[in-house]
Formats: sequence, C-alpha cells, structure tokens
Amino acid sequence: MAYSHLLIAIDLTDDCHRVLERAHKLSLALECQATLVHVVEPLTMAFGGDVPMDLSLLQQQQTEQAQNKLNVLAEQHELLKNNNCHLLYGQPKQEIHQLAKDHGCDLIIVGSHGRHGLALLLGSTTNDLLAGAPCDVLAIDLKAHPVD
Ligand code: AMP
Repeated sequence: MAYSHLLIAIDLTDDCHRVLERAHKLSLALECQATLVHVVEPLTMAFGGDVPMDLSLLQQQQTEQAQNKLNVLAEQHELLKNNNCHLLYGQPKQEIHQLAKDHGCDLIIVGSHGRHGLALLLGSTTNDLLAGAPCDVLAIDLKAHPVD
C-alpha cells in the first residue's frame, strides 16, 4: 500500500534535519504530497497553569523564533521549499492529529530518540502521537541515524 500525503512533524532542534532528509527521500520514492508542521507549545503548559505573570510577550517571541528557524530550514531543505509548512500553536498531539485529519494525510513522520524506562516517563511526543493517531505513524530512529 502506498501513501499519498505525508505529514512531517518537526521540533526545530538539530534532530529535525535527519527527519527532513529521510522524509524527503520517502516523498520522492513514493511521489507523494508532503505537509510540514511545527507546534509552538503554550508556555503555561511548561510552567503549569497558575503563573502570576503575563507570558504573552515571551510567547510572541517564542513564535517569532520558531518562524525564523523555519525560514532558515526552508533555505536548507527542499522539502520546506516546495511544500506547505504550518506553524501552529497548542498541544502537539492535538494539533498534529487535527492537521492530519483536515488535510487527509495518511502517514505522520516524526523523530524518535528511542527512550525507554524512566526517560520515557518524562515524556515523548512520538509516544504521545501514537495514541489515537488518525493514520499510520513512522518514527525515524534518531539514535541509529545521527545527523551527518
Ligand atoms: P520528543 O519526543 O519531544 O523528543 O520529539 C520526538 C519527535 O516528535 C520530534 O523529532 C518531532 O518529529 C516531533 N515533535 C516534538 N515536538 C514537536 C513540536 N512542538 N512540533 C512538531 N513536532 C514535534
């Protein structure tokens, strides 16, 4: 079974180069459409709900930084140059699942550090994305394929 529309989720760390390279090769091999997404997480999620200060300026700076990084990546990777790239705000799992549904994506591609045990308890976006995913999820092994 071939896939027709990839959704590539990138976290904008150095690891995302590997995810972009692998996804690009796959999109060429399958001759399929690709959409990219980065989700800016609400700072209140990191600090907890009750923060006695206005985080809106920080949040705006975070979003601007993410956009700047996406612009830089677009100069380095064909995949970003030639495809739709979404910068969304919210909880990564919810936003990525919704985007996959809205755009009829049939494969979500993410990176995986292969965390297990205690490290996994601290949270993994990839693991989180698997639960309730609207389509297949491909995890690129970042440990086995370090950035060149
Ligand atoms: P993590 O579990 O946070 O180490 O992230 C694993 C993978 O999930 C990353 O390599 C990305 O593919 C994806 N990911 C993590 N955070 C985000 C984010 N904020 N927006 C989009 N994708 C993300």
